[in-house]
Amino acid sequence: MKEHEIRPQDIFDEYLRLTAIDTQTYFADAPRTGQPCPACGADGEAAFEKNGFAYAQCPNCLTLFVNPRPVRSAFENYYTDSPSTRYWATTFYRQTEPARREKLWKPKAKSIMDILSRFPNIEQLIDIGGGYGTFAEEIRRISNHKVTIVEPSKCLAQVCRAKGFIVVEKFLEDLREADLDEKKRCFVSFELFEHLHDPALFLGSLRGLMSEQDIFIFTTLSSAGADIQVLWENSKSVSPPHHLNFFNPRSIKLLLDSCGFEPLEISTPGKLDVDIVHNNIDSVSDRFWHTFFRITTETDRQDLQEYLASHLLSSHMMVVCARR
Ligand SMILES: [Zn+2]
Repeated sequence: MKEHEIRPQDIFDEYLRLTAIDTQTYFADAPRTGQPCPACGADGEAAFEKNGFAYAQCPNCLTLFVNPRPVRSAFENYYTDSPSTRYWATTFYRQTEPARREKLWKPKAKSIMDILSRFPNIEQLIDIGGGYGTFAEEIRRISNHKVTIVEPSKCLAQVCRAKGFIVVEKFLEDLREADLDEKKRCFVSFELFEHLHDPALFLGSLRGLMSEQDIFIFTTLSSAGADIQVLWENSKSVSPPHHLNFFNPRSIKLLLDSCGFEPLEISTPGKLDVDIVHNNIDSVSDRFWHTFFRITTETDRQDLQEYLASHLLSSHMMVVCARR
């Protein structure tokens, strides 16, 4: 898989341009408060600034996070009604949906079902932030597990209902036991965790809904991932106001532990790190990478990508956990 297949350059660049304007509109005057590392509680060290957002890195566990952090209401206003959010939900999604279905959602549905084959008790999936329901459709195609979508956006919830899914139109934090049926559940959330204003609050709400045999599977960005480490503030994944928390395979364990979760499997099955570094080589000063891309073959690059993925060094992280 190549980066441009799921993020066509011109559409993605336009999205980033709109986002840069929105960060001014919605966040320039927002009150901000300092916060410790969201994984271990240590004080972060200033790392860099981007689009008016300051990022800090934890010297202890290497989590990268926005600090100081604008208040929650600024994010709620931004996500409810901003030009870049509308562009993402309409133009970006429409134009990339077929490619994303093939390249992202089909493999993701398969990998989730592979994991669930090790958890035969699980009878249903709860997709938190189900968006357009593409993942749910792919699960329905290959499995008999019931799928419920939790999606707070009215317009996206309608899209999912039209596809025949049960939708609970709420934020996870507002979800109640009565909204869900009692079958053994696997909660999933994809590319959501890095957006959370308060990850511990999210996990606390989720834990309150889970029974002992339920599991939670999520994907998020890892601060220890190769493309993020190499590109750092030039990484397009470091994109305020969206991405506020970059945990990593080590630090996510600390957070899960303090929130009453037991990590079962942590992996980084990413496929794009090397391609992303290649696509952004103009902003890389390290000589090694320039030499690497001059003298290596496609197979060599694939080998490196597989090495990174299998050694917890890709920026795409997947976590399977249960409540303790
Ligand atoms: Zn830390």
